[in-house]
Amino acid sequence: MRTELFAFIFLTFFTVSCNQAQEPTQETFPVAAPEQLEPFFINAAGDTIRRVFKTDQDWKSQLNEMEYFVLREAGTERAFTGDLLDNKQKGVYTCAACGLPLFSSNAKFNSGSGWPSYYQPYDPTHIIEKTDASNGWNRVELLCARCGGHLGHVFDDGPKPTGLRYCINSVSLDFEKQ
Ligand SMILES: [Zn+2]
Repeated sequence: MRTELFAFIFLTFFTVSCNQAQEPTQETFPVAAPEQLEPFFINAAGDTIRRVFKTDQDWKSQLNEMEYFVLREAGTERAFTGDLLDNKQKGVYTCAACGLPLFSSNAKFNSGSGWPSYYQPYDPTHIIEKTDASNGWNRVELLCARCGGHLGHVFDDGPKPTGLRYCINSVSLDFEKQ
């Protein structure tokens, strides 16, 4: 009887842990060692997205200095300097490091902040939200779900319909014209 009870408790905990592990957003992504993460995730469209893991050295040789600073060291480009800030063409904004689609031009708006701004992501599973307590404030940092690259932050002072403002570094994005 006792053994059965223990087995039941163990199985319950095991099931709960497994379900948590399948959550598409993993707050620990850039902190956890790559081998501790699932090598892939399923996006909202049902596609399997294989994660990209590279060494710092590999990222350094792939990215230019500014891209490395923003994407891999969570830096921020200076306001009003990004080349995609005033882009009004129709298309998709992808991760500059791994090519994952991150935002549609349909969700872009002029926030006046000096950084490209969107009111919703292309696919919510393509972006990981992480609490960022650096610089003394509590902000929500945004990371690419495939490569862990730093994108920017999300704030709750955006326009309708979501009320959200995804504030993104131009340097973290590439643009694919439709
Ligand atoms: Zn990426």
